[in-house]
Amino acid sequence: MSDIFKQIIQLAVNSRKILITSHMDPDGDSIGSQLALKDWLESLSAESKILNQGKISSKYLFLDDKKTIESIDEFSEKGYAADLAFVLECPNLERTGKIKKLITDKCKIVNLDHHPDNSSFGYVNYVDTHAGALGEIIYELLSFAGFQLTKNAATRLYAAIITDTGRFSFSNTTFRSLKICSELINYGADPKEINHQIYYNNSESALKLLGFTLQNIKTYNEGKIACMVIKQEDLENFKISAGETEGLVDYSLYLRGAEVGVLFTQKNDSLTKVSLRSQNSFDVSSLARIFGGGGHRNAAGCTIYQDLNSTRDLILQKIEEQFKL
Ligand code: AMP
Ligand code: MN
Repeated sequence: MSDIFKQIIQLAVNSRKILITSHMDPDGDSIGSQLALKDWLESLSAESKILNQGKISSKYLFLDDKKTIESIDEFSEKGYAADLAFVLECPNLERTGKIKKLITDKCKIVNLDHHPDNSSFGYVNYVDTHAGALGEIIYELLSFAGFQLTKNAATRLYAAIITDTGRFSFSNTTFRSLKICSELINYGADPKEINHQIYYNNSESALKLLGFTLQNIKTYNEGKIACMVIKQEDLENFKISAGETEGLVDYSLYLRGAEVGVLFTQKNDSLTKVSLRSQNSFDVSSLARIFGGGGHRNAAGCTIYQDLNSTRDLILQKIEEQFKL
């Protein structure tokens, strides 16, 4: 670990322009990790820019008080001629979406991840599948680099870790997750305030959509599969943006006896996002990989180029097959 960290620090110190990016539609771990990484790079006086494809869910905007995260959708310049790119939480460069084309051959890639399906596409690769969140790895890198964490940086990393570990409740929660978070509290992270901003901050319409979606939950395979659906028209009727549905899939496993939870989100008539959650040994990442997606054993996802009903039939059939193995 320390050799790779030394190499990363060396690269950061010697680079002129640094790009920081993550997967499309970045989640709490991606956002918190990118911002904390930028805090460190600023302390080195390195020029850096955070660029992602997709919008940030409003519940994470408090982490980015200076509005430093830019979206490529609104990015009007020709490009960003970085000589170093930190790519976080991506199994491959395709997961960055349109950012991929900004990363030229002249740009060295530091690939940091905690997903098991990472393809080691970087110049330097640091993939630790035992980390509950990428935020844990960023904390360790920044500590190794001797960076004195500010309250802001601690807040960002704390948010990264609680969102990926389901507030210390998923199977990826470890002694390390809790130890790092206790240290982050020492640096000024405020658990009550951060929880409040992320989880107690829903719009009335988002809560009503949650109610509507739960009302229509369906079970299969004697209750072992819990299935939820969000149609395009539901988002329109409830007047909420797609980003506001992050975390909704977790409710599927609140059902007693449910071993696999799945949320189908209709993007358009021929595109459906599938979010998968599971308990114990049921591996949803292998299922997602069949369809070009990925993730962790108990939390994975993929996007299918088919309509909602065909996607649902296809995925439910695959889950049922996997139960029979
Ligand atoms: P989500 O259901 O979007 O919260 O994603 C759960 C997990 O699956 C996260 O670790 C994601 O990074 C991963 N994941 C979701 N969609 C994809 C995809 N299309 N390709 C690879 N990994 C994905
Ligand atoms: Mn993560």
